[in-house]
Amino acid sequence: MFCFISVFSQQKIETNEFLFESSNDSIDLINNFYDIYESLGSFELPSDKLYQSWNNYKIRYQYGDEIVKTDSTEIILIDTAHGERFVKPIDGQLTSHFGYRHSRFHYGSDIDLETGDNVRAAFDGVVRVTLYNKGYGKVVVIRHKNGLETVYSHLSLILVDSNVIVKAGDIIGLGGATGRATGSHLHFEIRYLGAAINSETIINYKNFQLFSDTIWLTQKNFAPIKNVNEISEAPKTRNEYHNVKKGENLSVIAKKHHTTISNICKLNGIKESHLLQIDEKLRVK
Ligand SMILES: [Zn+2]
Repeated sequence: MFCFISVFSQQKIETNEFLFESSNDSIDLINNFYDIYESLGSFELPSDKLYQSWNNYKIRYQYGDEIVKTDSTEIILIDTAHGERFVKPIDGQLTSHFGYRHSRFHYGSDIDLETGDNVRAAFDGVVRVTLYNKGYGKVVVIRHKNGLETVYSHLSLILVDSNVIVKAGDIIGLGGATGRATGSHLHFEIRYLGAAINSETIINYKNFQLFSDTIWLTQKNFAPIKNVNEISEAPKTRNEYHNVKKGENLSVIAKKHHTTISNICKLNGIKESHLLQIDEKLRVK
């Protein structure tokens, strides 16, 4: 099982680990951050202007919760011109949504897997956190240059080190059920400045494709699942028409097209008392 480690090449970033441990001091953190920045050479360290710190022990960045919820921010998810891509972290069914679950808020999307399945980095980035946490279990956090962070939780085994560059599709661990998990699954989060995003507004889980290479992050991306239809930029339903046949009335037509009489009236600017003509063309959606 451990042979996975040699399968993909990793570029380890040299850092002074002890600095991270010593710093409660934010200035130190910023200095550490630029140490890494220097050693990364041409690689843009994810979002140096957005994040004031880089640490290897905090799963959630704690400062920016309120920032993103009012602004609209453009996020380039993948720059295909530079060979960037999105890779599904695991090939499985979405089993639990982002949003309120019982009385708790569920900050991620759960994807079904078998313990031992390969879990992959969704986007290019730098591994910021690899640790065990009571809730998340074995967890990996990757920071991406667009400012997003992705979180891969409940792993049975972590296969990357902190401060390592990963490409989308690199295996970062094996799926499992560590931490607070009932059954093996991947708890997957996307965060921006610490604020959890509903990943279903970015990823279409039906085909595991991005809805779009670029998104505008707005309040809606952070809203619980009940608003998902209004958030995702799913194509608008096409207009649908019905040719009235002999013996049909509005009630029959409404039932046939799973809509209501009042909706048909609104769409066609008619009253419920409207007398239908055979072959009359009515818009029903
Ligand atoms: Zn979960």
